[in-house]
Parts: sequence; structure tokens; C-alpha cells
Amino acid sequence: MAKVRLLPDRVANQIAAGEVIERPAAVVKELVENSLDAGATRIEVEFRHGGRSLMRVEDNGCGLSRDDALLALERHATSKITEAGDLDSLASYGFRGEALPSIASVSRFELQTREAGQDVGTEILVNGGKFVHVRDCGRPVGTRIEVTHLFNSVPARRKFLKTDQTEAAHIVQCVRLYALACPRTAFTLIEDGRVIFRSPECSTLAERIAEIFGRQTASELVPIETVETGMRLSGLIGRPGVGRGTRHEMIVFVNARPVDSRTLNYALIESYHESLPKGRYPLAFVFFECDPAAVDVNVHPAKREVRFRSEPAVRSFIIRSVLGRLRELGGAVVAAASPPQIAAPETSLEPRTSNVELPTPAPAPRLTPVLPAPVVPLRTPIAELRTPAPQTRNPEPETRNAPPAPTVPAWRFVGLAHGNYVLFETAAGLVLLDRRAAHERVWFERLQEQFRAGEVPSQRLLLPVPLELDPIASALLLDRLAFLNAHGFGVAEFGRNFFRVEGVPAWMEPADAEPFLRDLLGAMRDGRLQDRDTGLAGEQLAKLAAAKAVRLSETAGEAELKALVAQLFATRQPLTSPGGRPTYIELNHGELARRFQK
Ligand code: ADP
Ligand code: MG
Repeated sequence: MAKVRLLPDRVANQIAAGEVIERPAAVVKELVENSLDAGATRIEVEFRHGGRSLMRVEDNGCGLSRDDALLALERHATSKITEAGDLDSLASYGFRGEALPSIASVSRFELQTREAGQDVGTEILVNGGKFVHVRDCGRPVGTRIEVTHLFNSVPARRKFLKTDQTEAAHIVQCVRLYALACPRTAFTLIEDGRVIFRSPECSTLAERIAEIFGRQTASELVPIETVETGMRLSGLIGRPGVGRGTRHEMIVFVNARPVDSRTLNYALIESYHESLPKGRYPLAFVFFECDPAAVDVNVHPAKREVRFRSEPAVRSFIIRSVLGRLRELGGAVVAAASPPQIAAPETSLEPRTSNVELPTPAPAPRLTPVLPAPVVPLRTPIAELRTPAPQTRNPEPETRNAPPAPTVPAWRFVGLAHGNYVLFETAAGLVLLDRRAAHERVWFERLQEQFRAGEVPSQRLLLPVPLELDPIASALLLDRLAFLNAHGFGVAEFGRNFFRVEGVPAWMEPADAEPFLRDLLGAMRDGRLQDRDTGLAGEQLAKLAAAKAVRLSETAGEAELKALVAQLFATRQPLTSPGGRPTYIELNHGELARRFQK
């Protein structure tokens, strides 16, 4: 019969660590929070190999005495609260007293600290939860914690770590959030010996955003500040019409804590419904403050989620504030020609319904998303399409089993409807062709051909387009520069986080270059685009490019549309668009008879 017994502290800490320390970024988060709680005005974070081999956080905060430092490594040792009731007036990031012992139980943990007024500092070394030594050390006032060999003693955890690049992205994102939360603290972030960003003390949030996200982003924002009883919203939000393809730049803080709050995210998206085209996310760096007793931060072990006592009140306050501000600025501006979009797969954040009890004044009716207006292109792709692209047939493994490409069918052209649907009469019945889908297929295979041959026609821009990026996007772009330039772009690094687009692929409108690249980088960051295997990356790029390259003229004549059919049937997979949608639908006589109940 098993006996019930208390777990040794070391084991208890390792179990707790599983909840608090899910990945390297969680270590950085806890250490940075501690530094901020210690009143630091300067914090330096360094990591290597996505945090796997090293994470170091150094601050100029209040430091700890030897006794306190030893105590801080005990479970539930905290200087921040003394009783549960204190949670209702929480003014610090930490309160559980779990972080340090948890981290120390799953890594090699070295703490050096010196308290103001003391001549000498303390160094404590713990390895995998086992105390190794405590001794005097020399160091400036403040604390330095170095974590190496993370999860070495817990191989099961180590297995769950993603690539270094992914873990690094989480760390960078985490430090950025705290840098935004505390503009007055100077932050430096170093990855593998390279400075990712260094931001001095800033006097305003706008300055900090410019430091981290670039001046371009900062210039797209306007301040917001609304106060109601018990609630305050402040910060910066995107001007009407300014949106992003991902929600990375929708950042919310609740009582200075960066959080992932569905309530606040929904409310922001909802507020922008009349100001942004569908599928775009607002830009927002906003701080929501309320009575600490009205919000529960103790929901998630990593304190990332928060719960409000009154969700509807918070939501309607946010919508009222943001919508009011947007209307002041000129209200509904749904960009007529929406910039190129790479649809985010996670639609979960889109409000499922818009039946939010909207505050007065009643909102303007929600505009139906405006489709990009068909434009007559400068270079008419259709004209080019008439000259059949050389089809070097080079069947790829996955198409070897595909049915042999049908020969051009004998379809009789009947007409074009809505500029997109082409009706044909066939021996078997009717065919309805989706003109856009067909063009995309043709372009896709043509681009693939160009990519394979390494000959992507490019056009030099008369006026290079400047591109300012945040440090993560900048690092990603640097990484992919050769790839993009081999695929028709001409992008050059121009300075820290600055680039110049000097050339674009022939299929691209120069004005689309900047939004296309931004969305492309967003997609890479989300992992929606392969960025390692260039074969796959090329195919994904061709897919995006094909969708962008197709510009339908408003009308098209019989000759042009028949040429399109010929082009389509010369491709390897004429039945589907590159995105897998059908290019045409057939209605045979039997189907027609059935529908007409003959
Ligand atoms: P919590 O932050 O929840 O109190 P931690 O385990 O993160 O718990 O830290 C334990 C204690 O160690 C803190 O309450 C604080 O007193 C002290 N401490 C941790 N990091 C620092 C630091 N960088 N500077 C000064 N004191 C610190
Ligand atoms: Mg803490």
C-alpha cells in the first residue's frame, strides 16, 4: 500500500516549474518582472540559442541582502504580499514567490546581487535545484541572474521546446512588451551577441514605440485617453484606415501588465469595424487601468490571462472610447483598395457576432468589406497571357499521379457576368469559369517556372521605397534578403532597421511593394510561411504572388477569355486554383434537368 507523504521541495519546485516555466521566454518574463519590481531603471537581457544555452537578466534595482537572497530561493518566499487580501491591491508584477525557486530547479542558476549600502555582494549558485554555494562577490548595486542549461534535468520539457528561432521570437516579444509597459526604464536586448534593440530611458510611450517599432509605425498612431468611474484607457491607437495583416501590433496592458485578453482584443477589433477593411487588425498600444480588485490576474500560472469582474462593462467602455476617438478623427474610412493581404489563419479572434451592446451613439451601419476595385493594369497581364508561356513540362513527383492534362475543351463562349464568371456552353451542359481563379492558376505555374529557372523578371523602381521595420521584422528580412532578391525583389539594407526597396518583381505594382513585404514578414513570423526550405518557400511565395499578380480588367472579350481557357488547360492542374479552390463548375444536362424538375 502506497504511503501518502510530502514531496521533497526539489521535486515540488520542478513540478511547479512545469506550470510557471513553460519555455525560455517565461524565464525572461519572470526575471524582467522581478527587475521592474525592484525599481530598476536599467535592464539588460541577453540570451543565446533561443534561451536554451543562456539567459541573463541584469538590473540596477534595489538588490538583496545575503539573507534575503537565500530566502528568495525558498518556495513561496516573496517580499511583495503578506496575505491573500493583498492581491486585491496588487501593485507589483510578482506575488507568488514561485519564480526563482522554479527556475533554479530546472537549470543552472547563478544569482549575484548587492543591496544599496552594502560593500559586498552575494553570489548564489544552484544547479538543478541543488544548492551549490553561497559566497561574497563584487558587483554594482542591483541584481544579475544567469540561467544556463535550461531543462537539462527535465528532458521531457526540453523535448517540447520549439526551434531556437521560435523560442527567440518569444523572448524578443516578451522583452518588447515590458519595454513598452515601462518606457522610463532603459532596456537592452542582446541575442547571440547581437544587439536586437537598445532603448534609453524614454519620457513617453510614443518615443518608446518609435525606438522599438520604428518611426514609421509611431507616425501612424494617435493618442487616446478616456476616463470613466473606475476605468481608464490610455495609450496610442492606429489612425482610421491603418491596419496590419497580423495582430502582433495590437498590444494591451491591464494595470501595466502585458496580457492576452480576449475581452480587450475583441473590443478593439470591434471598434475598428468601420475603420478597417475586413481581415486587417488594428494597431494599438493601450493601457487599461482599473481597480486591482476588479481584475483577477491569478487565472493563469504565467499570469498572462486576466479576468474582469465585469466583462461587459469593460468591453463597452473600450468600444465607446475607441469608436469615439476614431469618429473624432474622421470616422469610417474603409480603404477602397485594400493593401495586399495574407489572410491570417487564426480567425478565432474575429468577433463571431457583432451583437455587442453598443453604446450610444449608435454605430454607423457596418460597411460591407470593399473588394479591391478591378483596375486596368499598366502592364496588362492578360495581354502577356496571350503569348503562351513556355511550358517546359517537368512533372513533379506529386503530380505524376495526376490525371493527364485535358486538351483544350471545345466550350462555346456565352458571356461574362459580374466581371468574373464566364459562362460557356458545352456538349455536356454548362460551364461556369471563375476568371480570377483561372488567372491565378496560370500565374502560379508561370511564376514557379520562373523561380525554377532562376529568372524572375524584375523592374527597377524610379523612386526607391523606404521601409522601416521593427527589430524582429528587420532581422527576419535580413535573413531572407538573398531569397527575396533571388525572386525578383531588389531590397537593400540601408541602416539600422531601415531598408530600401529598389526593385520589385515585374508582376507587382510598385505601390504594393511595401504592404506586400510587411505582410510577407508577418506571415513568416507567424510561421505561416516556410523560411528554411527554399523550395517550399518559393512555392508559397508563388502562391501569394499569383494572388497579387492577377488584376482583372472590368470587361473582357470572347477572344481573351478563350485564350484564358487555353492557358488554363496548358497548366499542370487546371482544375484548381493554387489555393485549392475549383477554377470552374460544370452543370451537366442531368443536373440542369433535376434542378428544373423536368
Ligand atoms: P515574487 O516575484 O512572486 O515575489 P520571485 O520568486 O520572483 O517571487 O522572487 C522572490 C523574491 O526575490 C521577490 O519577492 C524579491 O523580494 C526578490 N527578488 C527577485 N528578483 C529580484 C531582483 N532582480 N532584485 C531585487 N529583488 C529581487
Ligand atoms: Mg517574481
